[in-house]
Amino acid sequence: MIIGIPKEIKNHENRVSLTPDGVKQLISFNHLVLVETLAGVGSGFLDTDYLDAGATLVQTPEEIWSAEIVIKVKEPLTSEYHFLNDHLILFTYLHLAPNPQLTKALLDSGTTSLAYETIQLNNKNLPLLIPMSEIAGRLSVQTGAHFLEEKPGGKGLLLSGVPGVAKGSIVIIGGGTAGANAAQIAVGIGANVTILDINPQRLAQLENQFGTKIQTLISTPQNISKVVATADLVIGCVLIPGQTAPKLVTTDMVKNMTVGSVIIDVAIDQGGIFESIDHTTTHDEPVYIKYGVQHYAVANMPGAVPKTATNALANVTLPYILQLANLGLNASLHANEALLKGLNTYQHHLTNLDVATSQGHDY
Ligand code: NAD
Repeated sequence: MIIGIPKEIKNHENRVSLTPDGVKQLISFNHLVLVETLAGVGSGFLDTDYLDAGATLVQTPEEIWSAEIVIKVKEPLTSEYHFLNDHLILFTYLHLAPNPQLTKALLDSGTTSLAYETIQLNNKNLPLLIPMSEIAGRLSVQTGAHFLEEKPGGKGLLLSGVPGVAKGSIVIIGGGTAGANAAQIAVGIGANVTILDINPQRLAQLENQFGTKIQTLISTPQNISKVVATADLVIGCVLIPGQTAPKLVTTDMVKNMTVGSVIIDVAIDQGGIFESIDHTTTHDEPVYIKYGVQHYAVANMPGAVPKTATNALANVTLPYILQLANLGLNASLHANEALLKGLNTYQHHLTNLDVATSQGHDY
């Protein structure tokens, strides 16, 4: 197979979809790996590292997109839509539910697309989302702490407090992978931490994990409203797989927060849980202030820590990439039920029920 690795073009997206070690493994099975020049540089991998691993370096995205399989990190942007075609297998994060424009581009072009985030194991785990959610969750507290400082426009608060001065309050809505990882850092820095989830069993697991260092609450509009009003930092980590995220934090709730507080919508890639967040932000301009509250809505948070994120992503994607390359699309989909759940578009058809439902499409 011919496999293409483009340089990511999203704002400050420095991750790359394959490491030189991954190239070596594909080459050992006699595949041809095309890597766009400088694709890995933001993650600490030089062109020479890829050459030494056996890749063929190419200068233009056109050459990459002519490959049989294109492996990316983030979804194609509009400037890449013209590369989509009916011979192409695209393997990447897609997050189609809130993105009808990309869904249409994939369907119109007949591209076969497999979305990392909908690959699902029998135990319901989403193995290709987990490492990025771990990173985004941990990063969200670090980022929130920064924007609470006075200079970037925050209220000038140290989340840990100091002896004799109150700690800050962090509210985490959604206690899955991102939420639990946010909690781990939040507890570590000594803030007051409240986690809300709709799943009582999940809340029990979190209490077992963190003991009395956290407070758990069932996620209801009343509970959310109460804790958001006194929070310094609210982090949205809800996921309903494949679906657009529910707007759980209303604009009125945000208006009730004190000036200089921070909200971070980790779930923005699925549309986000804050009603007052009406657009995604970028690493260049990560926050905007509305109702006196800093709004952060970067959809590719792990792009801020590419050296960690590229390796974490490659650890989990490589087995699927090897299977696709070695067996081909049809045999891989038959052999691997989890990968089959990743199939989002196939020959002009939408093949993911949750995405179809979210967009009111036929399935
Ligand atoms: P997860 O499935 O592990 O956890 C989601 C949690 O949300 C579950 O515990 C679920 O019970 C809970 N939930 C569902 N409905 C709820 C409600 N009404 N109230 C409270 N909790 C509710 O998901 P995850 O892996 O932690 O991912 C969370 C989100 O973060 C996803 O949208 C994911 O795509 C996103 N994410 C974003 C970035 C980024 O850069 N912005 C990076 C990685 C992941």
